Amino acid sequence: MRRTKPPVARPESRQSAARLWAPWRYAYLSATRTGTPACIFCVKRLAAAPRRKRLIVYANPLALVMLNRYPYTNGHLMVAARRHVPSPDQLTRTERAMIDELIVQSIAGLRDALRPAGFNLGANLGRAAGAGIADHLHWHVVPRWEGDSNFMPAIASVRMLSQHLEQSFDRLAPRFKAMDINLS
Ligand SMILES: [Zn+2]
Repeated sequence: MRRTKPPVARPESRQSAARLWAPWRYAYLSATRTGTPACIFCVKRLAAAPRRKRLIVYANPLALVMLNRYPYTNGHLMVAARRHVPSPDQLTRTERAMIDELIVQSIAGLRDALRPAGFNLGANLGRAAGAGIADHLHWHVVPRWEGDSNFMPAIASVRMLSQHLEQSFDRLAPRFKAMDINLS
C-alpha cells in the first residue's frame, strides 16, 4: 500500500489565514474557475432542510451568514448581502449596516460556540485579490487558535471535514436564532 507523508504546515501560515493549509480549497478553487456553478450566496428558498444543507446559519431579507464548506479553520463563516453584487460600493447603506452587524454577531457567536483565541476578518474583491466567488461580495470571519495551522492538516478526509461542518452548524445556528439582530 502506498503511503503519503503527513502534510507539514509552513511556519508563516501562523500569520495569515490565506496561507493556512487547507487542501480541499484547491479542488474548490479549480472548480469555480473552470465551471459555472450557481452562486452559493444567491438563495431563494430557505426552508430548514435546504438551509442546513447549504450551511446557512442565519438569513434575513438583506443578508446571510454561511459556513464555508472549504474552510481555512473550523467555524470559518462568510457574511454576504442577499443581492448579487461584486463590490461594497454597490450595496445600499442599509445592506452595509446589516453586513456590519452580522460580522459582529458572527464574532460573538463563534466566541460563544467555539472559543477561538483570535480572528481574521476580510473580503477579497476580484479574482486577482484571491476571491473564489468574485461576483458576489462576501466577508470572511475566520476564527483562529494557537496552533490551528497544525490542527487543520490533521483533518485528513472530506468525511471528517463534513462532520466538523455539521457540528459547527448545530452549535452556531441556534445562537444566531437567539440573537437580537435589529438595526433600529
Ligand atoms: Zn450571488
